[in-house]
Amino acid sequence: MGPFDFFRTLHDGFVGILAAGAAPDVLIDRLTARSFELFDANIAIQTEGLPQPACHRGCPSCCKLRVTATAPEIFLLAHYIGLIHATPAGAAINLPKRIAQANRATKGLGERQRMALRQPCPFVLRGVCIVHPVRPLACRGHVSFDRAACVRAAAGRDIEVPVSEPHLSLRGLVQTAQQSALRAAGLAWGLYELNSALVLALDTKDRRAAWAQGSDSLAPVIGDLDMAAMAATFDELLTRH
Ligand code: SF4
Repeated sequence: MGPFDFFRTLHDGFVGILAAGAAPDVLIDRLTARSFELFDANIAIQTEGLPQPACHRGCPSCCKLRVTATAPEIFLLAHYIGLIHATPAGAAINLPKRIAQANRATKGLGERQRMALRQPCPFVLRGVCIVHPVRPLACRGHVSFDRAACVRAAAGRDIEVPVSEPHLSLRGLVQTAQQSALRAAGLAWGLYELNSALVLALDTKDRRAAWAQGSDSLAPVIGDLDMAAMAATFDELLTRH
């Protein structure tokens, strides 16, 4: 199957989930589960014959980059954070406070400014991502084959790390297919910066319901996102043969 057919198949799958209708929490679970399943199921095929990624548990060297995510991914994470925070150990970690602190440092910064700032993601704890099962597609799709380059970048000696193209492309396809389906359903389909959107999503559960009714309750989207150009690309991808 070519990339255009693949995109349309993914898009149609997400449209089907949205058309089936469900309570906001269920809808968010279904959309994100589908995204993560599609990514995991296809990445093995796409990377066949390539070396093993250098990424491993306990290496958060790239977890200082700006992370962007769709509204369903943000709301899924917010729910997961709530579950962690409801436990005694989770309350001691106090993720909402860590996110608010990280957001104060990163708010409004572009990708390159974030690279220079090197502010760690609030979810890194003793070198491990504590939201790993629900980490956004952006994190799943950022994979390096070059451990030495990652170490140099973590030490601030390098700004560019060669990342795996198959991971990057598949993440892009799955994410944009989800966005395209959200747009077709009349829902907010932009990409949001992780820290700032989570501060909003954790603020009140109403934002989840408002998003499911068509409001852009996590606005603003990241500043360098050209929504009109993206919409035109979706339309082209859906009609191209
Ligand atoms: S969510 Fe997890 S994987 Fe993604 S940047 Fe944060 S710590 Fe790293």
